[in-house]
Amino acid sequence: MISLEQAVACLTEQVTPIKETEQVSLESLSGRILAQDYTAPFDQPPFPRSPLDGYAVRGEDTTGTSHEMPVSLRVIGKVYAGHTFEGEVQPGEAVRIMTGAPIPVGANAVIRQEDTDYGCERVGLYASVKPYQNYCYAGEDFQKGTVLLKKGTVLNAYDMAVLASLGYGSAVVYRQPAIAVISTGDELLQPGQPLTAGKIYDSNRILINSRLQALGIPSALTLHCGDSAEQVAEQIREVSAHCDIIITTGGVSVGEKDIMHGVLKCLGVEPLFWRVAVKPGSPTLTAVYQDTLLICLSGNPYGAAANFELLVRPVLAVLTGNSRLCMKVKTAVLTNAFPKQGKMRRFLRGYTKHREVQAVTGNHSSGALSAMLRCNCLIEIPPEQNGAQEGTQVRVHLL
Ligand code: AMP
Ligand code: MG
Repeated sequence: MISLEQAVACLTEQVTPIKETEQVSLESLSGRILAQDYTAPFDQPPFPRSPLDGYAVRGEDTTGTSHEMPVSLRVIGKVYAGHTFEGEVQPGEAVRIMTGAPIPVGANAVIRQEDTDYGCERVGLYASVKPYQNYCYAGEDFQKGTVLLKKGTVLNAYDMAVLASLGYGSAVVYRQPAIAVISTGDELLQPGQPLTAGKIYDSNRILINSRLQALGIPSALTLHCGDSAEQVAEQIREVSAHCDIIITTGGVSVGEKDIMHGVLKCLGVEPLFWRVAVKPGSPTLTAVYQDTLLICLSGNPYGAAANFELLVRPVLAVLTGNSRLCMKVKTAVLTNAFPKQGKMRRFLRGYTKHREVQAVTGNHSSGALSAMLRCNCLIEIPPEQNGAQEGTQVRVHLL
């Protein structure tokens, strides 16, 4: 049995970051990863502009102006945002201007309208402005040629807004991972079907696929297969060419129907490893089939869930180049004791807020799905301890 760290290292060694790129339209870029640098093709703003509503003037013309000593300038025109003023401001002249409009040639400052008499033909000024006061320079935000967004950036709303302001309607990003989820088990029915004797509903399939989507990975191809090694192997053969990773659940333990070992035999591949020293979900089995990583998780819902977080997320992080896909780890104070002694490193379901964390109470079994409701973390309990006492510091992995 290998440690969790060894298992993660073994799996992440098998994958290389996705290199293929695609052009994606601006609206769909959230969470996508840039495959090239983006440089400003022009200054922003592209022209000197007014930051407020007022009058564009020559600062020199307003020297010494005050309420007691107003100055009067001739208004030679008006300019709004989105328009241009064609003339040139000469000494003694002003142009009525609104926020965002280009400052006319000859003017070098804007006096706010509240410091004027709002005049139309002539305007009376009650304050002075220095040259380049209330003056947004061209390129003040960014200059032509500046690399604004670097290759590898995980795009958020601000990045997308910058791309938009550069005039890009789309960008080149890396292809997203393609994943298949296969739930195995003769006992599984899909939700919506009538419940019949001996059956249960398949919850792993939606669980894994929803977790992928919550991490920004596109919806997986999801399939179900009964407990037949040959059939599962056939499904894997069919989908593997289109998948970076195939995640299966069920059939990895030592029972007669634990078919996944047989599946690897049918596929003619050896396991990378079987069994990881963590509870729940220790029987995780992994292999590589024709460049596709197979991660076969326990069928127990919490075993599958915990090992998805612990093992699959680091693989996704390498595949996408997005390290934020790994769980964040913090320490917190356990507010309720977990008295059970265990030989294996254990991950409990918990709820953490600020510096505290509470483990779920009641049913800790890896088959208990309801214990996962409202959990937001995994609490790590080291092996060979008498559980963990209330008040101890524990490592908390954030979901
Ligand atoms: P297995 O890993 O196949 O031995 O399954 C362990 C336990 O998890 C059994 O009680 C299964 O019925 C249950 N189980 C397996 N797969 C699923 C699934 N997709 N959804 C819900 N429970 C499952
Ligand atoms: Mg089974």
